[in-house]
Amino acid sequence: MQTIAHLVKKPWFLGSLVVIFVSVILWNIPIEKRKYGLSQSGLVTDYTGLLPERIERVVRAENRSDLQRIVRQANVNGQQIAIAGLQHSQGGHTYYKNGVVLDMRTFNRILEIDELQKTVRVEAGATWEDVQEAIQPIGLALKVTQSQSIFTIGGSLSVNAHGRDIRFGSMAETVKAMTIITPEGESKTVTREDPDEWMKYIFGGYGLFGVIVDVTVELTENQLYTIQTEKLKMSAYASYFDRLLNDQHTAMHYARVSVAPNSFLDEMYVINYNHTEKQDFTTRLKKEQSVRLTKLALDIGRHGGALENLFWGTQKRYIASLNGKEITRNNAMRSESTFMEYTKPGRVEVLQEFFVPVHGFEAYMKDLKNVIPVNDKHDDFKIHNITIRYAATDQFTTLNYAKEDMFGLVVLMQHGLKEEQISEATSLIQNWTNLTLDHGGTYYLPYYRYQTKEQFRRSYPQWNTFADEKLRRDPHNVFQNMFYDYYVK
Ligand SMILES: Cc1cc2nc3c(=O)[nH]c(=O)nc-3n(C[C@H](O)[C@H](O)[C@H](O)COP(=O)(O)OP(=O)(O)OC[C@H]3O[C@@H](n4cnc5c(N)ncnc54)[C@H](O)[C@@H]3O)c2cc1C
Repeated sequence: MQTIAHLVKKPWFLGSLVVIFVSVILWNIPIEKRKYGLSQSGLVTDYTGLLPERIERVVRAENRSDLQRIVRQANVNGQQIAIAGLQHSQGGHTYYKNGVVLDMRTFNRILEIDELQKTVRVEAGATWEDVQEAIQPIGLALKVTQSQSIFTIGGSLSVNAHGRDIRFGSMAETVKAMTIITPEGESKTVTREDPDEWMKYIFGGYGLFGVIVDVTVELTENQLYTIQTEKLKMSAYASYFDRLLNDQHTAMHYARVSVAPNSFLDEMYVINYNHTEKQDFTTRLKKEQSVRLTKLALDIGRHGGALENLFWGTQKRYIASLNGKEITRNNAMRSESTFMEYTKPGRVEVLQEFFVPVHGFEAYMKDLKNVIPVNDKHDDFKIHNITIRYAATDQFTTLNYAKEDMFGLVVLMQHGLKEEQISEATSLIQNWTNLTLDHGGTYYLPYYRYQTKEQFRRSYPQWNTFADEKLRRDPHNVFQNMFYDYYVK
């Protein structure tokens, strides 16, 4: 007894107890995995689980001729096929009522790496991570990916994805050639010069114009970058970014805006990846790190109010601690994702993205303050973070969200699943979409469709060309999904 009393007086003993206590707490934070997708028995869902649907069956093709056979048969039998990668899209894009789901994960091989030309030919069911594993040892990296490398190549190109690179334009622009199976079951190799313009519809085509089988993608050096972080006032961001774009020193960039009550939409920080001109052959691809700690921080922020202020303060300190550190391009393109997993029964956490012209950013952000609440502590609908990305003009694809240079606001949000909670979320997001449209912007289509059909048409004025081409190229409506059913059909 006396020994314990004696020990308690020692600072090192108390310190050790705190460390053990904190470690036990951290270790017991559960890292759940959302259950979704093709593994669900009976009903199929995607990442949200918001649109469960009964399907006929899931098919996996053994090889390319098998794939052609499946598509040809569907033409004859009047079947509908929806194509699935890893189903991170959130609005029923990968399945259709009573239809067949084509699971593309069997097509996951790296076919050829041309070191001299700096290209990789890869099957569409492989993930960007698979590509990174193959090209990292030879000092190469992708030109454009999303923030994470967990998505399939086919799924990313079919949503016309974009990332943090501010120099190479859209992801689609980095594709030199690809093999597709057309809606009538024909195998074709297409390039950007193809007179039939297949790429124009396949990119951002949500699996409605054919199956992407393999793709030849341009690569660049896996450079070592220096991370530079800065805290900014929102009102300074547009001119800050303008300078950044004109100075070739920065390769990649993104920013995060405060949604904490004390600094709501006023404060932000930027993260830049600056060139060092050193190509990296040795640094390993990073694995998920400190998942429990980052999940704890996000869980705290998820409560809103004062806890959100605390979370924002922690984020700022963490970001500031990165300033001056080095990272490879490959590692900057594979952010952690597991900590975001959220599995609370009766609630859902989803993403939305709004695009607004770069030149109109400041006015838009001012008006946004009138649309979303400063403090959502007592609300059902909660916003956890807003990340800002640059999306360069894309004049190539049909459902095109960047008619001019845009900032994309990626929003992580959460709401309940009761009817009135969903409709409250829907109404807020529709108001946000109207504001975005009034500012000459658009919204992103891979996420849950809170928006109306009219809002879709205003955002994507070429929707009717998309619809006409769909009918022309797929006369038997072989490729179908719930996204098409809701917005386009
Ligand atoms: C946490 C998170 C972070 C994200 N970050 C970004 C980001 O930084 N930038 C960004 O642009 N997007 C981002 N997204 C969106 C993401 O890019 C899309 O959800 C993408 O579709 C995911 O790929 P997937 O393999 O899951 O595709 P799926 O969801 O399986 O499919 C998406 C679409 O592609 C079609 N498709 C799939 N494979 C093929 C194929 N082989 N041939 C033809 N069509 C096919 C499907 O039919 C469907 O319409 C993010 C999503 C999440 C959940």
